[in-house]
Amino acid sequence: MLSLKNIRLHRVKDNLRNAIGVYGGFYRKGPVSATFFMTDRCNLRCKMCANQGEHIDRESLLFHPRTRDVTLELVKKTLEIFPTLKNIGFVGTGEPLLVNGLFEMISMAVSKGMNCSLVTNGVLLENNIDRVIKSGFRNISISLNSASPNEYSLLTGVAPSTFFRVGEAVKKLVKKRNETELKLKINVSSVIDRSSIVKIPELISYADYLGIDELNLHSIIPNPSFPNTYDLLLREQDKPTLKRYYSLSIKNKVNVTLPILIKDVPRGNCYSFFQRINIDGDGNVGGCMRVMPPKRENGNIFEGFKVWNNQYFTEWRNKVLNGELLHETTCRYCVECSK
Ligand code: SF4
Ligand code: SF4
Repeated sequence: MLSLKNIRLHRVKDNLRNAIGVYGGFYRKGPVSATFFMTDRCNLRCKMCANQGEHIDRESLLFHPRTRDVTLELVKKTLEIFPTLKNIGFVGTGEPLLVNGLFEMISMAVSKGMNCSLVTNGVLLENNIDRVIKSGFRNISISLNSASPNEYSLLTGVAPSTFFRVGEAVKKLVKKRNETELKLKINVSSVIDRSSIVKIPELISYADYLGIDELNLHSIIPNPSFPNTYDLLLREQDKPTLKRYYSLSIKNKVNVTLPILIKDVPRGNCYSFFQRINIDGDGNVGGCMRVMPPKRENGNIFEGFKVWNNQYFTEWRNKVLNGELLHETTCRYCVECSK
């Protein structure tokens, strides 16, 4: 299990690396990471989802207007434009495993030396285990916000049996991976807020049962269109509770990363716009690594390299360089500003 001291050390190192990249001006040469927003289609209806859930606000920064699915041509084009890329993420405002050709895109990116990762809800994992194993992924993260079938059903809008199917698929994936020499890291990620902090020991036990490599617990980032969203934030005063629940699970084998607590006054700043480009199926771009999806008004990958230093990216970067908060509501309560 990762110790609290090690987690802090990782964060300090990350911040230092980011600062060197930014103030050395290396970012101008191009992004290091690209994240493809593969699709808006999903096989779950999670209550808290900004794009499929109960409280959709089309004006919100967190909402993604529907576009086409990402294609192999788009991924190829992006790699041609940005030779600086090292990491490719396949995510979605829907479920990436629903997208035709996903594994061809991954193989192509891996053949060009990219570190590839996938974020999935795991519902289609059972039919794709061999393909995931053969794909050359470095990292697969399965989003699972509950360790109980009934609660999972309430949160996602599907039958409790889906919870068991996802769990068994994850176990099979871990078993198959363990039979190989592959460096595929298998994680589960769960969003934690004040109402769900009590679930931490249960989530850790379940992660242990699944045999995964790491359980990533993430603080909720408020969605202003949700009721009571700011009351649910995990703040500094929740530290003792968090430590207590963490220590209850200390005997488990799985590595756990604890949620970052939100500071009342933002402490740092976010380097996302210096490192990352997000791209949706129409080629629209974005630069936020947490919650803001690509949008048409931000620019388009078909503009070529110049999109990376366009007005949108320049304005957000200048705010960071001037020590300003990037966005009053969304960024103030984002973990990136509380590290
Ligand atoms: S799995 Fe993800 S994209 Fe699909 S509804 Fe849930 S949160 Fe939204
Ligand atoms: S601070 Fe803002 S821009 Fe940076 S990751 Fe968080 S929400 Fe995105």
